[in-house]
Order: sequence, then structure tokens, then C-alpha cells
Amino acid sequence: MNAPTSVAALAPTVKLLIGGQFVESKTTEWRDVVNPATQQVLARVPFATADEIDAAVASAKEAFKTWKKTPIGTRARIFLKYQQLIRENMAELAAILTAEQGKTLPDAEGDVFRGLEVVEHAASIGNLQLGELANNVAGGVDTYTLLQPLGVCAGITPFNFPAMIPLWMFPMAIATGNTFVLKPSEQDPMVTMRLVELALEAGVPPGVLNVVHGGEMAVNAICDHKDIKAISFVGSTKVGTHVYNRASLAGKRVQCMMGAKNHAIVLPDANKEQTLNALAGAAFGAAGQRCMALSVVVLVGEAQKWIPDLVAKAKTLKVSGGTEKGTDVGPVVSCAAKDRVEGLIARGVADGATLELDGRNPVVAGYEKGNFVGPTVFSGVKPGMSIYEQEIFGPVLCLSAAADIDEAIEFINDNPNGNGTAIFTQSGAAARKFQEEIDVGQVGINVPIPVPVPLFSFSGSRASKLGDLGPYGKQVVLFYTQTKTVTARWFDDSTISHGVNTTISLK
Ligand code: NAD
Repeated sequence: MNAPTSVAALAPTVKLLIGGQFVESKTTEWRDVVNPATQQVLARVPFATADEIDAAVASAKEAFKTWKKTPIGTRARIFLKYQQLIRENMAELAAILTAEQGKTLPDAEGDVFRGLEVVEHAASIGNLQLGELANNVAGGVDTYTLLQPLGVCAGITPFNFPAMIPLWMFPMAIATGNTFVLKPSEQDPMVTMRLVELALEAGVPPGVLNVVHGGEMAVNAICDHKDIKAISFVGSTKVGTHVYNRASLAGKRVQCMMGAKNHAIVLPDANKEQTLNALAGAAFGAAGQRCMALSVVVLVGEAQKWIPDLVAKAKTLKVSGGTEKGTDVGPVVSCAAKDRVEGLIARGVADGATLELDGRNPVVAGYEKGNFVGPTVFSGVKPGMSIYEQEIFGPVLCLSAAADIDEAIEFINDNPNGNGTAIFTQSGAAARKFQEEIDVGQVGINVPIPVPVPLFSFSGSRASKLGDLGPYGKQVVLFYTQTKTVTARWFDDSTISHGVNTTISLK
């Protein structure tokens, strides 16, 4: 935790949201929210006390008593209004996001927009939360299902999508009739809080949505809390595994979307210019800080000759503050993140990979104090090297080679992660083979970052995910509800009595 500096002491404080009121935390632990392009302290975020976390959960528990009975149309209309408010405030939301997180303004709008799509989806909850009915499963007997809300649910979010990922969580949880406690990333909670304010303005009632801030202690308190029924977590594999184990042991339903190492295969028949553009955008966009960022490209056969072209493409990208026009690559989120990425680049060199392009210490006029790392490219990357084994989470692209598509698919399937992957080719047969044989949950065909829209679910797999159901789409309706199956028979005076039935059969 960084001690408040005198400048920071003047910065505004980020509030908790408990029972519909934005309140100042009584904690003694605070952390600065810092602009990664300038080091300006933008705000101070509290690490909520145990009592404050209890109060947030108690308020959600109380609100559930009435919220769960609120008509589905009333719930849907709140999200219709909410999507409109997000659209109206898009520029402000993006500006806050860029200031605290670093990504470029257009990419910040994309972050908000991908969350907005989930809000739009939540507005159609009437169609999503339908049960099933089978008529006459036995004489005069019908069976039907109800998808009932669970109670108090919680969300724990990472720094890299401070708009989209909170919006993956609370809109669908609330639309399905639950109440919610959100714990945003302590690194960039400000845009999340603005989105929460807009949710209240849209009509989310007091206590239905609550926010606490903090780190390890807050997360552990959420995992252990007896009144929380389900937890959605997005973040690193290390923390996600801890959350999954701890909260599952406490009897909760848990879904954890975690770290990644996303590979793409480039076949020599791919459209070269389109492919190079896609690779550079997916590897270096958002300074490589996307869970779906492209980390490894497997160049097959003759495509291995494209390395100089890819390096040339990477060199065209502009590294600067996210608010500067034309910026492609903004800063990484913190000084610690910059040190970590630079350390991994040094390890890559020491491990014997070829550093084709070194992005360390770029000169960024006007942003001399920013946490910048420019596009970096390694070739000759092999399993066992730190840059291959670890999620770098910076603008560093690793290039490997394979003789043919079979070898490339085997290479990817040997990696434990399963978040995203892509193939670049003009061959339908090769693409179909890839789609069938690759063991990764989200597959792109000439699409480098295949994040599904909310008509589908985010479906990372293997080491990138714990829990069966994804964070939005149809799957999340099942995550946030309990299916209750009702088997009903109504007698009238004409119903013939068959006497006592001592068998399991429905007659
Ligand atoms: P993180 O795991 O450090 O933090 C995530 C959350 O956990 C934060 O709210 C944080 O406060 C909390 N936390 C941090 N340390 C903790 C601890 N020791 N105990 C309990 N809680 C703790 O992740 P991050 O650095 O904010 O985000 C980047 C990571 O998230 C990357 O690994 C990225 O791949 C992953 N991510 C995954 C997805 C996905 O959908 N699979 C999406 C976005 C990000």
C-alpha cells in the first residue's frame, strides 16, 4: 500500500456504496489511484474494513427480500434506461478510464462499449430467464421449471477492463433478481464508480447494488461470508485459483475467468497485409494488457519469412499518452507492471530468444514519467523460457515456428491455458481442422481477439477458467439462478382415483 503523499492527501476519495448511499470509508488504509502516463495522483481508494464489508452484504441481503419479487419487466426497463445513460456519458466514462488505466481513448470507449452490450442483453432478461414446461408428463401432470435468483452475489474484478468486466457481472446478476456486492480493482476504481452512479440513476434501488474497495482482505471476506451465495471473479490465475478453492469450500457457486497465453497460427496462404495488421493490433493494443491479447504467434513453413515485415509493422505504432491523438500503445498500468515486463524481456534475452525489437525505455515526449514499454518482438521462443511460460501482460510478442499445421496445433494444445486462439489462413479446410482439433475455449478464424458478443458466453477453458459457466450470455443466467423443477397435478371432481400408488412411477 502506498502511503498518502501530501498531493495525494488533497486528491478526492473514492466512496463505498452501501444501502444506496455513497459513503466515506472509516479505514486507515488507503491507496493512491495514479495516472500511468503522468504519475498524477487522481484519487485515493480505501481498503474497506471488515465491518463495512459486513454492512454492504447486510444491505444486499435486506434488499433481496423485495428485489427478488420485482416484476421482470420492471427489472428489464432499468437496464433499458441504463444502456441509454451509458451511451449519453460515453465520452466522460472513456476519459476517466484512460486517465486511471492508461489505454487510449478509442480503446477506452471500446472497453465501455463491450460492457454496454451486456447491459443491452440484460434489458432482454424477459426472454432469457424463461423456464420450460412439459404438458401431461403423466395423466393430468405437468412439469415446469422456474429460474429463481440465488440471493446476494459478489463480483471481484481486475484492472485491465474496469468498465467491461464490472458490466459483465452486476447487470446480469441484478436483472435475474439477485442483489450484488462489487469489489472493483483497487488500481482503477473510478470509472467503475461512475458506472455504478449511472446504474442508480437508471433506477437500481438502494441496497440492490453495493460496492466495497480493497485487496486481499476484502476478497477473502467475500469468499468466507455466509450470506454470499455466488462469486464471479476475473483476474490472474494465482488469485482466481485461491478464490475458487476458498469460496467453493465455503459452499458458494464460483466462476473464475483467469490468466492466459493466447497463441495464433499463421499459415503461409494467409492474406499477408491483413494478417500482419491483425497480429500487431492484438499483440500491442491496450499495451498487451488484455486477457485475450495475442502473446505467441506460431509461424508455419514459409510464413517464417514474415518476421521482418511484422517487426516493421510493430515499429509503425505510436507509443504515447492515451489521450494523444493517434496513439496506438499507451502506458502499462503501474511502475511495478513496467518493471515486471522489462524484467521478463531481460529474462527472454538471457534464456536465448532472439530480441528482434526491443521496446524498453521508449522516448515519449511530454510523458517522461509514464510507465511506457514499446512494442517488443522475440523470435525463436520455446517452451521452458520464462517469456513463454509466464503471462507477460505487456506489449511483448513471442514468435515460434512449426513445420506444418499439425505441429502448430500440437504446440498450442501442449500449453495449459485455454482462453483464446486464432488461425490466419485462406483455406477453409485448414480453418475447420483447427476449429475441430484445437483445445482452447475461444477460437478466431482470421479474427485475432475472438471475444464473443453477449448472445454467446465468454468460454475460456482449461487453466484459464474454473467453474462450468461463463460470465455473460445464456450461461450466466444459469450461473445466477437456481433451477427449481415443479411437478404438478390438480384434481377436479371428475378425476378418477387409482388408489394408493406405492411405486416411483407417475400415473
Ligand atoms: P489480480 O488477480 O491481481 O487482481 C484481480 C482481483 O483480485 C482484484 O480485484 C484484486 O484486488 C484482487 N486481488 C489481488 N491480489 C489478491 C490476493 N492476494 N488475494 C485476494 N485477492 C487479490 O489481476 P489483475 O492484475 O488486476 O488483472 C490481470 C489478470 O487478469 C491477468 O492475469 C489477466 O489475464 C486476467 N484477466 C482474465 C480475464 C478472463 O476473462 N479470463 C479477463 C481480464 C483479465
